[in-house]
Amino acid sequence: MPVNNSEDVISVDYRRASFLLGVAELSQLPADDGIEVAFAGRSNAGKSSALNRLTEQKSLARTSKTPGRTQQINVFSLDDDRRLMDLPGYGFAKVSKKVKKHWDQVLSEYLQTRKSLKALVVLMDIRHSGKEMDWAMIKWALHANLSVLVLLSKSDKVKQGERSKTVRDVKQRLKEMNTMAAHLEVTSFSVLKNDGVRVLEKFLNAHYNPPHE
Ligand code: GDP
Repeated sequence: MPVNNSEDVISVDYRRASFLLGVAELSQLPADDGIEVAFAGRSNAGKSSALNRLTEQKSLARTSKTPGRTQQINVFSLDDDRRLMDLPGYGFAKVSKKVKKHWDQVLSEYLQTRKSLKALVVLMDIRHSGKEMDWAMIKWALHANLSVLVLLSKSDKVKQGERSKTVRDVKQRLKEMNTMAAHLEVTSFSVLKNDGVRVLEKFLNAHYNPPHE
């Protein structure tokens, strides 16, 4: 159940997240109702660390994964109506072309057809932000009129000047891509310095509690 919070009116208790299931095919996903928000990113971008920080669970999403191991969409339940979706990390050098193509198709279809999916959170390492697949994911999401939040992760690894410049550059690139006038946000993010965590929570709260439903 959402709890009252003076700042957000309603905020979801992310600590209640629990693992529901992992799927390799979209047909195995839970019924397409309620509200989903998905997390995506290249492997090693910091997605598991962000999910663990959000849910205050040390090993909800495993932070050290073997490249090339079976990839799946991990579904976490927040309550009966709300789910967090941990999409498989992309960009493993060792993954075969066939497996890569399979996941490109699954992710593209998921982002563009899943009705309960309202928003996408993309983790990009602030030191090498915005690789090809990141922009492809964002493009598919915008095409489906989803909201997008870009977390420029590990911001503690760069100086303030570089941090601000990368945030500005990514915002500019998104502005150029955004033809649907969807809800788009960019922030620097660090689990070590607690940078951007509040922005992430507010973004999620807004999408898990839509004003007209
Ligand atoms: P994933 O593959 O996207 O799930 O990435 P992980 O969450 O496993 O993180 C990859 C590596 O980056 C791990 O060694 C983390 O400890 C490290 N990492 C994640 N977030 C941060 C951060 O905010 N700051 C720093 N300095 N390192 C981080």
